[in-house]
Amino acid sequence: MDIGRKRRAQIILDALAKVIPRPESELNFSEEYELIVAVILSAQCTDARVNLVTPSLFNMWPTFAALSRAAPEDVAKIIASISYPNNKAKHLVGMARKVMSDHDGQLPRSQAGLMKLPGVGRKTAQVVSSVAFNDQDALPVDTHVFRVANRTGLVHQADKPLKVERGLKRVIPRGQWGLAHHLLILHGRYTCTARNPGCEDCVVAEACKYYEAAQRLPKPIAGLDPAKGAYYCATRRYYFDEPASRTDRTGVIQLSCPKCDSMNVYVSKTGHTSKIVRDYRIDKPSRKTNKNAQ
Ligand code: SF4
Repeated sequence: MDIGRKRRAQIILDALAKVIPRPESELNFSEEYELIVAVILSAQCTDARVNLVTPSLFNMWPTFAALSRAAPEDVAKIIASISYPNNKAKHLVGMARKVMSDHDGQLPRSQAGLMKLPGVGRKTAQVVSSVAFNDQDALPVDTHVFRVANRTGLVHQADKPLKVERGLKRVIPRGQWGLAHHLLILHGRYTCTARNPGCEDCVVAEACKYYEAAQRLPKPIAGLDPAKGAYYCATRRYYFDEPASRTDRTGVIQLSCPKCDSMNVYVSKTGHTSKIVRDYRIDKPSRKTNKNAQ
């Protein structure tokens, strides 16, 4: 469908709002302290796993003051099942100490103030300021928002979270940024998943660029013989096991025929084309270099 990006955004958000009755965070928290702790823990980790750990954590250290007096090693033991427990424990205790020493035990109200706290990067600051303080300027971009925004075409091949944020802010009215954040996250978490997007049951398929491109892929071929080779070149009518590769005009690396270089290649076992549609993931930091400041 050839529509402008603003119109596409409205169609997508309207459709998602109809099927997502509670567009809100799935982290369990009851006030600001619990929110920022849960959001810091949720970097590179699922909300469900964070929710398993936070009851014990909040029971042992129920306030900024209590957490500021904790030893990071003790916190790390309680959050051991979360990704990067040692780094996150240091950040949690450091964050609580800074809130106590510099902010009189209250979270700073601005995104800039929040981002000066240990373990708090742009995304965490925006989530906290949006959810806790109803900050209308926040549109946090996590891995789900990043993927869904790019796949649907709400942004055009934006390769960094900040570019996605800016692109979304251009096409979504300011008053809807908080709502859009929750709708896109939940859609990415339950339907437009990273490995197997549920396009056949997706309510935004008709406005989605990824879906449109997937429909243009060649149809499967019946009757291929895997015994003759793992791949089949439909241009030369030739089976082979070791494919070559080529970059197509959209910049995606595709398998190609080692004899004629054609990308008209099929997987013999399934009969499906080997062509893929461009997809999007935030580059994840390695475990060694991760600073957990999301
Ligand atoms: S149609 Fe597919 S790719 Fe597009 S938003 Fe829906 S699930 Fe995601």
